[in-house]
Amino acid sequence: MTFTVLNPATELPIAELEQAGVEEADAAVAWAKAAYPSWSAVAPGDRARLLRRLATLVEENAEELARIESENVGKPISGARGEIGMVAQVFHFYAGAIDKHVGETIPVAGGVAATFREPLGVVGLIVPWNFPANIASWKLGPALACGNTVVLKPAELTPLSALRLGELCLEAGVPEGVVNVVVGKGSVVGQRLIEHPDVAKIAFTGSTEVGRLVMQGAAGTIKRVTLELGGKSANVIFEDADLERAAAAAPYSVFDNAGQDCCARSRILVQRSVYDRFLGLLIDATRDVKVGDPADEETEMGPLVSAAQRETVASFVDGEPTYRGDIPDAPGYWYPCTVVEASNDDRVAREEVFGPVAAVIPFEDEADAIRISNDTPYGLSGSIWTRDGSRALRVARATEAGVLSVNANTSVRVQTPFGGFKQSGFGRELGMHALDGYSEVKSVFISTEG
Ligand code: NDP
Repeated sequence: MTFTVLNPATELPIAELEQAGVEEADAAVAWAKAAYPSWSAVAPGDRARLLRRLATLVEENAEELARIESENVGKPISGARGEIGMVAQVFHFYAGAIDKHVGETIPVAGGVAATFREPLGVVGLIVPWNFPANIASWKLGPALACGNTVVLKPAELTPLSALRLGELCLEAGVPEGVVNVVVGKGSVVGQRLIEHPDVAKIAFTGSTEVGRLVMQGAAGTIKRVTLELGGKSANVIFEDADLERAAAAAPYSVFDNAGQDCCARSRILVQRSVYDRFLGLLIDATRDVKVGDPADEETEMGPLVSAAQRETVASFVDGEPTYRGDIPDAPGYWYPCTVVEASNDDRVAREEVFGPVAAVIPFEDEADAIRISNDTPYGLSGSIWTRDGSRALRVARATEAGVLSVNANTSVRVQTPFGGFKQSGFGRELGMHALDGYSEVKSVFISTEG
């Protein structure tokens, strides 16, 4: 059976693909299992060389990959270029990391113990549609570096960059069977990977709801699981902050990728003493966001990924918002930049919207800011804007989230760990920490007696 892949900015087809089912998922796992003994035995230096070659191929094909990503997700071409640049950086990073992820020697009674980092086996990578190539690379890089083989399942809405990455792996010289890409429904192919007895681990990024299913399904075979799930992060603006800078940055921390970002700071908490002034600055800055054709070099926000996503996002906005931007009068799943004033108890402040809707919420003082910021089941990211360094660190330490920034709105860097607290999931991607999620520690005792 085939299915059609659409461009969300035109609603027109861009590809017709075969839809894989359980049989193809099983075949991919079998290939990955067959490739595992020889891949895991490749010397780390040789694995590093292959990953470096893959990084270089991504750089050489960056424009094509960026265009695929832009057309398939509806993201602005400038942003897509940045994301593909990060994919190459990720492969370079893990090429360099392979021979630095080492064990220890531990003196113990009667001898010495040595620890080794062993690969897990076949790893299932289930990735979402919001940053398809990027998130695939965050999992592929450390999984391959550690000596695992993989089955990558992209989201059905956005499979094209994963398929191209699979081709580039082969072109780089990664042996057949090491990287397998299976395009099919999550509830069929994803579910099969979760339950498959020959899959040692599932690395999942997506909704908290499906994250729960991953945990439940993985219990049958005690699979390793890492989960990077939803978020409802706070952007906390104190009265002593550089308000102009904070307001200029705030729209991009909610409306980037049309708000379809697990790190979106979609709750903007503003100290009451500067609330009106900041709200005015925020609306002025939001008015400047350039919404339109993703292929246009100037565009900063494109459409949502699908009609269904637009319907979900619209359900969060009752009545007239404080600000609503313009959208193109053309086909495409457009939704305007929207600012609403809210209380932290409102649905728009409690649930992940995954669209360009910012909820602005007042707070009284530092304790109140921390209380509201933590009053959410999620704990992924967030920002703190203040000129008081002690306060910045105090609030950062008190915030129940995995990735925070001070006087900035970014979360993701190749070198630093990324992941959530609470219902935003567990396990860390990126940086050296990710390698721990794709390896087991083995301890070997060597007797020095006799
Ligand atoms: P999902 O969690 O459904 O999708 C993420 C991935 O999981 C996709 O590859 C999907 O496949 C797969 N999947 C879906 N169902 C199953 C299953 N039963 N077993 C195994 N894999 C499965 O996200 P949605 O696309 O439905 O988006 C819904 C909401 O989730 C968004 O509005 C947003 O709030 C949140 N979300 C969060 C993301 C994040 O980055 N943390 C990313 C994406 C969504 P397929 O789509 O092909 O069926």
